[in-house]
Amino acid sequence: MAYAHNNIFALILAGKIPNKTVYEDEHILAFNDIAPKMPVHVLVIPKGKYIDLDDFTANATSEEIGYFFERVGYIARDLGAHDTGYRLVSNNGENAGQIVPHFHVHIMGGRKIKEGSMAKGL
Ligand code: 5GP
Repeated sequence: MAYAHNNIFALILAGKIPNKTVYEDEHILAFNDIAPKMPVHVLVIPKGKYIDLDDFTANATSEEIGYFFERVGYIARDLGAHDTGYRLVSNNGENAGQIVPHFHVHIMGGRKIKEGSMAKGL
């Protein structure tokens, strides 16, 4: 499957759709989810064109991958999510509920997650 250049997150990165940015640098953008399921619900995306976690871990450099996850930890701490506990989610493919085909992780926290709940029904 080829990267879809007109996906929503590509349009956000191109500045064509507004977003509520919580962190940005040369390689990464983090912004509030438009339909938050938790008090903290932030999406973190690389600026590189990767479809999903599989594409990212197979085709990005170890440096890119390491930097991305180091920044995810930093962003979660900066948001205070580490203090309350948080769940990190990455949906891979339609069957897993991935809607936007640009690799992203969800940082979801700010309250207790119901025991046994899956990401889509927190
Ligand atoms: P997925 O199911 O692909 O892992 O998650 C995609 C997420 O992107 C969903 O939680 C959805 O609410 C969010 N989303 C979809 N469109 C937009 C948008 O235009 N702006 C923002 N900020 N989030 C979006």
